[in-house]
Amino acid sequence: MRVVAARDGGLCRIRLPGGVLSAAHSRALADAARAHASGVLELTNRANVQIRGVRAGEEAALSAMLIGAGLGPAGIDAASPVERACAADELRNVMLSPLAGLDPNAASDTTALAQALIDMMQREPRFAALSPKFALQLDGGERLAMLEHPHDIWLAARKHGATVRFVLGLAGCPSEPPVGALAVEDVCTSIRALLHAFLDLANANATRMRDVLAAHSLEALLQRAREHGEFALMRDDTPSHAWRRATSDARLRLGAHALHADGSGYVGAQPVLGRIDSNTLHALADLAVEHGDATLCVTPWQGLLLPNVAGHAMPATLERLRALGLVCANADPLARLVACTGSTGCAKSRADTKADALRLATLLPDDTEVHLSGCERSCAAAHRAPFTLLASAPERYDLYRREDSKAGLGPRFGQLLAPNLTIEAAALALAQQPRSTHDV
Ligand code: SF4
Repeated sequence: MRVVAARDGGLCRIRLPGGVLSAAHSRALADAARAHASGVLELTNRANVQIRGVRAGEEAALSAMLIGAGLGPAGIDAASPVERACAADELRNVMLSPLAGLDPNAASDTTALAQALIDMMQREPRFAALSPKFALQLDGGERLAMLEHPHDIWLAARKHGATVRFVLGLAGCPSEPPVGALAVEDVCTSIRALLHAFLDLANANATRMRDVLAAHSLEALLQRAREHGEFALMRDDTPSHAWRRATSDARLRLGAHALHADGSGYVGAQPVLGRIDSNTLHALADLAVEHGDATLCVTPWQGLLLPNVAGHAMPATLERLRALGLVCANADPLARLVACTGSTGCAKSRADTKADALRLATLLPDDTEVHLSGCERSCAAAHRAPFTLLASAPERYDLYRREDSKAGLGPRFGQLLAPNLTIEAAALALAQQPRSTHDV
């Protein structure tokens, strides 16, 4: 809705609730990107899409085309005031697993609850004051989930006898200790009370939950939520480590995977460095119609899944994805690289991170994951990667290594190993590091 200026033209972010994109919406996005922008789209690490290179003077036409196709928030149409559309759109930051509603072994299908949370937030005018970055995670216990991105509020489903409870945590990830648990029927009203409590305590500079918890005790926040009524947080005697979420294997995001006894499941792939052109997006929509259920699920790894592919159709689907130039296997070095927009599209970038990442792909040691960032803002990775190359100048990078297993904590990129390296020198330095894709 809100087109922001970038070096390569306007940038338009489109939020996809739950990351789900129907084939019709995929085609509408591709057509809009071609009609009013460069035709280049990016998948983001929040499982959203952005259109790059929006032409000057065509911003309103682009937004109208997207809203007209049903890609705006509920209740917004092409005649709605832009500011109202923006405010409503920014309240759709609810992260789900790309397998939400698809994994039969998950503790809970979170799709309906996610929609109820989004509706609740969009209904309440006061919540328009929440920062566009304020984000919730709803984890149903699916086998594939991004568990390393810190969220302001996270909820994770746990079996509790014959029922399910959602454990609740703040300013962190579902792999960390929670603060309590909610019955499913209490989630919406309790989160509403918690959001009001957050806004009560947040001063002008406190936009995220971590800011409020730095200035106020957890108990003060929870007490304030209780004063808003219907805050039904249960404290549980179970040791908090027993509530923690088991890890999720990110390698499951690529390739063909059966979910059901009949061999049907999903096929995952990612465009090179998260970028896709409108022709490829059209081809993916066709593929989803032909072999899947006419939807694409965008993943927080800047990739996508085709859900509900029959077992017998998986090899052909994978082959088509490969032919379209998508990365489909973890062995591909491009599966282990992320890079921000870089200097071709972002004025803040000190290097052309995308081009440098492609060079590094030809030299990357096995089992090594690297994030290339043009500046300290780290747009391409919300968590700390095992290794980060932070641009210091064109074609020069400082190499950092993550130091602990808590991907979201501590200094931004970890320990500085070596400054001002060329890509070739960085590859050599990486080859001398312990081989681990997960924790160092
Ligand atoms: S990390 Fe910095 S250089 Fe890269 S896209 Fe974000 S703001 Fe631009």
